[in-house]
Amino acid sequence: MATKRLNGKVAIITGAGRGIGRAIAHRLSQEGAAVALAARTSAQIEQVAAEIEANGGLALPVQCDVSNESDVDRLVEMVMDRFDRIDILVNNAGVNLPPIDLTETDPKDWRHIINVNLNGAFYCTRAVLPRMKARGSGVVLTISSVGGRRGAAGRGPYRASKAALINLTETIAAEGANYGVRAVCLCPGGVDTDMMRQIALGRGRDLMKPEQIAEVVAYAVSDEAATLNGVAIDVPGNANTIAG
Ligand code: NAP
Repeated sequence: MATKRLNGKVAIITGAGRGIGRAIAHRLSQEGAAVALAARTSAQIEQVAAEIEANGGLALPVQCDVSNESDVDRLVEMVMDRFDRIDILVNNAGVNLPPIDLTETDPKDWRHIINVNLNGAFYCTRAVLPRMKARGSGVVLTISSVGGRRGAAGRGPYRASKAALINLTETIAAEGANYGVRAVCLCPGGVDTDMMRQIALGRGRDLMKPEQIAEVVAYAVSDEAATLNGVAIDVPGNANTIAG
C-alpha cells in the first residue's frame, strides 16, 4: 500500500468479529488506524485482534452488545483509556431474519432487529459524537443496505431499520457540520457473509466479498473523502440492487 491514509487515527468498528466488520477492521488497520473491535462473541473479536496484531497493527477487542447502552458506554471508555481519542466510528453491527411477512413477524423479533440495527447505531453515535465535536473532527460511517432504499415483501423489520439509518446519517451530518464531523452511510448489495447464508437469500446471486465493502469504507472515512457528508452511497456490486 503506497500511503497509509489513516495513520494516527483511532477507529471503533462494531460487529468486527466476522463478515464485513472483520474486513473493515483489517482494512482500516492496514491504512494505519488503531482499531477497537466490538461484538458479543469474544472469541471472534479476539481472533481478529490477534490477526491484526500479528500484522503489526494495534487492536483492542471489547465484548459489547450494541443494543445495551451501558455496554456501549463501557466500550467508549475502554477505547479512550487505551487510545485517548476516537476519530472514526463504523456502525456496522447488524442482525437479520429469514424473509417473513409482517403479519407473521413476532414483535420480539421486530424489537430485536430495531434494537441492534437502529438503536445500537444511536447509542454508539451518542457516546462518540461529543468527543469528536470537542476535538473538531471525526467521521461516523454507518452500514445500511440497498434494502434501506425501499421496502419489500417479507423484509419488513430489517429494511425499516436500514431505512432509518440513512435518515440518521443526515441528522448526524447536520449536527456535526459546525464541528468538523462528517457522517456517511453505505448501502451495500449482497455480500458473501454468515448473515447472507443464514437468511438464505444469497443463493445463485453474484455476491460481493466483504473486502470490497471495506475498500469503499477506507476511502469514505479518509480525508480524501472530505466532501462526502450526509450522503448514503449505494455499493450494489453486480447484484440486483433491490435484493440486499
Ligand atoms: P455477519 O457476518 O452476521 O456479522 C455481523 C456482525 O455483527 C458480527 O460480528 C456480530 O457479532 C455483530 N453483531 C450482531 N449483533 C450484535 C450486537 N447486538 N452487538 C454487537 N455486535 C453485534 O453480517 P454481515 O453480513 O457482515 O453484516 C454486517 C453489516 O452489513 C450489517 O449491518 C448488515 O445488515 C449489513 N449488510 C450486509 C449485507 C450482506 O449481504 N451481507 C448487505 C447489506 C448490508 P456477534 O453475533 O458476536 O455479536
